[in-house]
Amino acid sequence: MTERFWLAKPHQTEPKILEWARKYPQWTHLDMVRPWHHTAYAITVTDRDVPDEGKRKCLFAVPHGHEPAGTVACMNVLSQLLDGCELDGTPTTLDRERILRETLLTFIPDANPEGRSRSPEDWWDGSKYTNEEFLKFAFGIDARTGERFKRVDRWRTTEERVSLVGIAYERIDETTYVEPNRDWGSSFFRLIHLLTARHRYDQFLDLHQTEFEGSPHNCVILLPVIWDELPQAIRAISQAWAEDITTAWRQMENANPQPPCALGYTGQQRAYFEQRWGALYRAYPQLTVEVQNNHPRTPPDLQRRLSEAAIRVSVERLMVKG
Ligand SMILES: [Zn+2]
Repeated sequence: MTERFWLAKPHQTEPKILEWARKYPQWTHLDMVRPWHHTAYAITVTDRDVPDEGKRKCLFAVPHGHEPAGTVACMNVLSQLLDGCELDGTPTTLDRERILRETLLTFIPDANPEGRSRSPEDWWDGSKYTNEEFLKFAFGIDARTGERFKRVDRWRTTEERVSLVGIAYERIDETTYVEPNRDWGSSFFRLIHLLTARHRYDQFLDLHQTEFEGSPHNCVILLPVIWDELPQAIRAISQAWAEDITTAWRQMENANPQPPCALGYTGQQRAYFEQRWGALYRAYPQLTVEVQNNHPRTPPDLQRRLSEAAIRVSVERLMVKG
């Protein structure tokens, strides 16, 4: 897939999402929030002539502005489900009519279009920036020290001085920026709270990217940080689901998956996640996809394909009755 079909920035994703909603009103439903000057969309895809009750449901979301491959993967799957072909015109191999009939799939392809719009690059392939330079784009630069700005749930321009605002952060008003994955004021959490109040999802797949510094791997499924406290039923489903995605990755050329493991935060960081995510983790199976970012070993199209494989396996699991 060439760069023409790399739909990651809001000026590329927004018109496409609106076009799909216009073309396919019987198969789509849009939700949106607009905290500042960009709109974040959730697009739900299902055959609306079939009642939702018997359908299996999955939510897919991309919270971070500096992690574009998950966005492109969501857009390419949406294209297959709605237009019947990939963004580059290749006919889909998905059984789309059955998927539309039997499942309800919600995608938040880019939960932080404000941050993404500030990205100097369409993708991060490791050819231009070191990891530290990349992380300065992601989290910003502290004007007082010239160092990478801290990672916090929210900060205000009235209290901090930055010489570069990180693209991971989302501006939600005149003076406030939030980390979408950590603050309930983000478009990400606002959409999730709205959607989970309406639908009982069977699965939630959170699509991320990380650099895998010093690791030979380039993809992994992370289990929730409070894994050891989760109900056995949820752990059993999540474990099998994580294994299925990892198995699919193992069959892909140039993929080197790390076995599934729980997110390793402890202490205050763990408490943070527990507070923001605990209720969601306990309500239904949730996995985090991490695909390598900013490294020559994992070029952009491979980043997209690894992310897309995780989505496809998740959809296939919904189709297997039982
Ligand atoms: Zn992330």
